[in-house]
Amino acid sequence: MATLNPTHDPSRRSWVASANDAATDFPIQNLPFGIFSHAGSAPRAGVAIGDQIFDLDAGLQAGLFTGLAAQAATAAQGGTLNGLMALGNAPASALRARLSDLLRDGGPDDARHQAASLLVPMADAQLHLPARVGAFTDFLTSSYHTERLGKISRPDSPLPPCFKHLPVAYNSRATSVRVSGEDVRRPNGQWRHPDGEVRFGPTASLDFELEVGLFIGPGNALGAPLALPSARQHMFGYCLLNDWSARDIQGWESALGPFLSKSLSTTISPWVVTDEALAPFRAPAFPRPADDPQPLRYLNDPQDQAEGGFDIALEALIRTPAMRAANQPAARVTLTNFIYNYWTLAQMATHHMSNGCNLQPGDLLGSGTASGPTDDSRACLAEATERGAKPVALGNGETRAWLLDGDEVIFRGRTNRPGYVSIGFGLCAGRIAPAPSWPQA
Ligand code: MN
Repeated sequence: MATLNPTHDPSRRSWVASANDAATDFPIQNLPFGIFSHAGSAPRAGVAIGDQIFDLDAGLQAGLFTGLAAQAATAAQGGTLNGLMALGNAPASALRARLSDLLRDGGPDDARHQAASLLVPMADAQLHLPARVGAFTDFLTSSYHTERLGKISRPDSPLPPCFKHLPVAYNSRATSVRVSGEDVRRPNGQWRHPDGEVRFGPTASLDFELEVGLFIGPGNALGAPLALPSARQHMFGYCLLNDWSARDIQGWESALGPFLSKSLSTTISPWVVTDEALAPFRAPAFPRPADDPQPLRYLNDPQDQAEGGFDIALEALIRTPAMRAANQPAARVTLTNFIYNYWTLAQMATHHMSNGCNLQPGDLLGSGTASGPTDDSRACLAEATERGAKPVALGNGETRAWLLDGDEVIFRGRTNRPGYVSIGFGLCAGRIAPAPSWPQA
């Protein structure tokens, strides 16, 4: 079992009252890192606690941190978390321990007495991308997702031959990764229409993919891969990730994998939940059926098999313009769990490095669409609607085969383990804006 410490203690409560609310994503056991600005300030690092943000720069200036914790808070300066990620997990862990102590009931009063200068209401802050994402790789690792979609085009062998031997991925686009809350513009693109003609225009089958994102810590030098048992030390933290996908463009262009159907944008939740915060919620790797191949040795590690998974309930909701106008809540279209993914994130990171490719601090890995076995756990519309053939009902009389302009897609994630305080990721949300008009020559 992953090492637990007093920061995971379920009896620990915070003097920040909202952090003790059972519904908050950010109890004192979570303490995720992010980048925020407030009242015109430059973007700077903070830690979510209840409905507040603890200002790390202000804490550093107030002299609240020493030793490794101060080293971590210093590295987090400058408006991105890349420097903190580059230090590895030990300094972040020291900072987490100190913050947990400062923010808990019955701890030292250093922070409590300065709360007004250290805490910013999250509602008043703007949240930014937590890291400068140098590279973004997206995987395809749920056998349920891959089989459901594969059955439509390859009924006899829905999984690619390599699927159970390696975590499949493509190199996606880093520059179009955006933080939750930013609109997503419907892309124009080329595809073959049902009448057989190839045309260019706004995608007619815009979709979401519900995924978990992994931020890389120190990483590896080019030509120097790391073994699976040490990969954990390079997994800094996690977020929710929406790999927006234009299915018509994807189906036509993917002779060499997806390109413009995916690079249109990717939305991530703003808070980086650390590997340490998720330690109580680790779970066994996906149980392989007896006749499946065992992972090759470089992808096979007893500890990873025992606890390489995470028990995270994941949901996707859609809020349409009609729902907003009628003041109705979003409708849930997916409820799944991250334990269904066939490959672990450590296996993905290890495979990524296995040819010597260098992973760097702040690089982002998407887990792949996290679909499960049941109909309600289909984690994209292509699955839920059988590629548009069977629109999903949204409960208010509306249906969706694909996303329409004005629709907002919202992801949430919450951990489960009896006896431990459930932690969440915050929202990963984006609203579809109309396609840009194509420039005239
Ligand atoms: Mn994806």
